[in-house]
Amino acid sequence: MMREKIPDKNKAISLILCSKHDINYTLSLEVNKNSTNTIVRNIYESFRMLGEASLVNRGIGSPDHATCINELFKLDVKTLRPLQIIDGLRKLRHNINYYGYISSISEAEDAISIAKSCFNSLFAEIDKIIGRIKQKRVYLTIDDSPSENTMEKIDFLFDKKIPAFLFCIGKMLEKNPEPIIHAIKRGFIIGNHSYSHTHFSEIPLESAYFEIEKGDKVIEEVYKKANEKRDFKLFRFPYGDKGGKNKEKIQECLRKLGYSQKPFSGINYDYFKEYRLDKDSDVFWTFDTEDYKSDLPKILKHMEEVNPAQGGSLLDFSSKDIILMHDTKNKEKFFKIIEELEKRAIFEGVKGLDS
Ligand SMILES: [Zn+2]
Repeated sequence: MMREKIPDKNKAISLILCSKHDINYTLSLEVNKNSTNTIVRNIYESFRMLGEASLVNRGIGSPDHATCINELFKLDVKTLRPLQIIDGLRKLRHNINYYGYISSISEAEDAISIAKSCFNSLFAEIDKIIGRIKQKRVYLTIDDSPSENTMEKIDFLFDKKIPAFLFCIGKMLEKNPEPIIHAIKRGFIIGNHSYSHTHFSEIPLESAYFEIEKGDKVIEEVYKKANEKRDFKLFRFPYGDKGGKNKEKIQECLRKLGYSQKPFSGINYDYFKEYRLDKDSDVFWTFDTEDYKSDLPKILKHMEEVNPAQGGSLLDFSSKDIILMHDTKNKEKFFKIIEELEKRAIFEGVKGLDS
């Protein structure tokens, strides 16, 4: 039976995510005479899945190929090349599959050009129609606070009701406590990011203790000034450098001072457990936005990665993510990244941990 009339939003969502994954993978392939058919077929399939997603979302199950592709033509989207050329890909794929046709290099290159000119706008439109449910839950952590515009960032997040953990550099916090007092009063959690932001594996153990303890004291003072209770002691190593050969002793020091990663539950990535990142007393991260070195297009691309080379994925709903951002100078970029994260995820705070 072709028409089932049961809208299946979840299937539609998995189809569009799959199409996105496949197209990203395919566009990373090298074009040569062995890859032409794979490229043409994958790109065609990605478009077909988008059409199928739209149909499945409306309750039309198991549609044939032509119906899927025709579905795309009904969409009101601006693309750099006319959508009808996708039908040429359908015919080409038919010849590959049923007549053993081997695509030429130029046909594969044309398929890539079609993908680049049409896929993203179609994807965005269908994503919008389906209304992808935000299934991803994340913790937002911001390192290297405070800066000259921390206050504005706090107000921005507060207006959006986005909870965040700010890891502060003690030395900078001493000089500029106001924005952090402001943040504490608005319910943000302050963490220790050491006193002077050094590499822990490059300093003697005594200095490591000093870095932690001095940073701790500065934060304690700021909580007092804000007249708020410090519920959690959180620590993040500068550069993620856990101290090399001194690691265990430093962990012990953190434990003794009451540091833990209690607010951060639900990190289920295998590698996170394998490296025992869940067992340590400091807070690591699973998703580095790379805001300090990447431009916006690169950051957005990273957000759509299904199987990144390292770290977590915003499209893997089996784990929560600890997002790493920085209190950088460029606040406009910061705001933009937050808005993009907001489209994809729900931010978790520390509510309900009192019990
Ligand atoms: Zn840092």
